[in-house]
Amino acid sequence: MARILITSAIPYINGIKHLGNLIGSQLPADLYARYQRGRGNEVMFLCATDEHGTPAELAAAKAGKPVADYCAEMHGVQADIAQRFGLSFDHFGRSSSAQNKALTQHFAGKLEDAGLIREVSEKQVYSHADGRFLPDRYIEGTCPNCGYDRARGDQCENCTKQLDPTDLIEPRSAISGSTDLEVRETKHLYLRQSAMKNQLGEWISDIEERSVYNKLADNYSDPKEIPWPLLTTSIAKKWLYDGDGLQDRGITRDLDWGVPVRKGDQDWPGMEGKVFYVWFDAPIEYIACAGEWAEANGKTDADWQRWWRTDKGADDVRYVQFMGKDNVPFHTLSFPATILGSGEPWKLVDYIKSFNYLNYDGGQFSTSQGRGVFMDQALDILPADYWRWWLLSHAPESSDSEFTWENFQQSVNKDLADVLGNFVSRITKFCRSKFGEAVPQGGTYGDREQALIEELTRRVRAYEGFMEAMEVRKSAQELRAIWVAGNEYLQSAAPWSTFKEDPEQAAVQVRLGLNLIRLYAVLSAPFIPETSARMLSAMNTLDTAWPDDVAAALSALPAGHDFAVPDVLFAKITDEQREDWQDRFAGVRT
Ligand SMILES: [Zn+2]
Repeated sequence: MARILITSAIPYINGIKHLGNLIGSQLPADLYARYQRGRGNEVMFLCATDEHGTPAELAAAKAGKPVADYCAEMHGVQADIAQRFGLSFDHFGRSSSAQNKALTQHFAGKLEDAGLIREVSEKQVYSHADGRFLPDRYIEGTCPNCGYDRARGDQCENCTKQLDPTDLIEPRSAISGSTDLEVRETKHLYLRQSAMKNQLGEWISDIEERSVYNKLADNYSDPKEIPWPLLTTSIAKKWLYDGDGLQDRGITRDLDWGVPVRKGDQDWPGMEGKVFYVWFDAPIEYIACAGEWAEANGKTDADWQRWWRTDKGADDVRYVQFMGKDNVPFHTLSFPATILGSGEPWKLVDYIKSFNYLNYDGGQFSTSQGRGVFMDQALDILPADYWRWWLLSHAPESSDSEFTWENFQQSVNKDLADVLGNFVSRITKFCRSKFGEAVPQGGTYGDREQALIEELTRRVRAYEGFMEAMEVRKSAQELRAIWVAGNEYLQSAAPWSTFKEDPEQAAVQVRLGLNLIRLYAVLSAPFIPETSARMLSAMNTLDTAWPDDVAAALSALPAGHDFAVPDVLFAKITDEQREDWQDRFAGVRT
């Protein structure tokens, strides 16, 4: 039994995520977790909310709530939606947890001990009215270049010129609008990523070398050796080597909300009142989340450390991360810099699966502009499996992909309703009408049945290969082909015709068809878990054994086994519904 640690990029706390966010990390991670559990492997699947930083403070202020209360509430909202989408996290944690505070302070202390932290004196804008330092993007003013009067302190949106807050004419606080600002000297800690450039570069090139080797060998007998996507390594190398190369990065901020800056459990002189920058503590939450899981489930430290410490049992763990392409630099460079720099035996990632963007109907999904379909809205319209199937079968892997309502309607109606749903409905209803609601006995396999078993065996092995390699779209295509094979068999065997001359022959055809439903439920569970459970329930079985031997799997339900005709699995989307939704989601969410 393999042990597989899976993390999804952690969603930011300030609101409900859209479908583009979902397919960029959490959903494919769930697909993989469910598949690996289905194969009998031991899985630890972790995700959490990313709760620190100024955007959380501002969202809380807007909602009129203390930031801690706001985060607790939004964590509940996100956890509920994740559960309703069938995201099967072993734990959905919080980056504001006590575990993450302690671990973040621990890592900072270790990095300081290793000489990888330096102190930098900076000038930053302080707002008297707000009683705080303002991050660059929370200072507004007139652009010195184009005269746009709402330019931000880091960049002018109008002419795209990169700015410093001190460049702005008539600067004001974006929070209060106050112009009572002052430039003050403040000290910050920087992680010396530049000092780790060679070590990180070697780590990446080791990964690339084995990728090249594997492309030649085309043999991934050890799943740790699957090549990383070019998207992942090319982004990492760009940050490592382009221009002046990898830069040091500030890890502290002058804010109230965050992990207080401490050196392990000691004070950090000169850093009083400061917190760690959210980018530093967020990925550490991947580890802390396992500690939260242990606490929530009455487990010991040893129970979570065997996933994360190579000196405590994690040396045989395969660690896979899922994320959108915008998160790749942090996960290939900054987080590994934290882990490698600590000098402690923490588990490093074995494989990073990154995604391009999903666009929405001719534009982009946008949280800030409320454009597109958000997770809660999607579930108000249709059950999760409709969305899961479409999103996964159109995952933006090799390039960006686009959601359109026409494509969604077509995919749901053809793949789910016509192919899978129709198969299940036809065979169960036919059996009920001629043999009753029990698996019929009699008859023997002929050439047609042997040919089907051979085709399915070939396709199931291909499906396993794609799932193992996290080829999401190809896995969906193969699964669909497996459903189609059953439909074609039923069409050509035509038990409704056979029954008139040779009821025994019809019986074996129907028996095979009913067993196919169980087989489909097992294979499809990673994509459409709720429907899969309904199929198993209709087939009156708890047998979810993976079909290592397809022929044997197709006799799992013996003659005489009772079943029930299920309700329609998937309702077709009508043109009227499609148009209605197209209109409803054409604007922006308010
Ligand atoms: Zn400008």
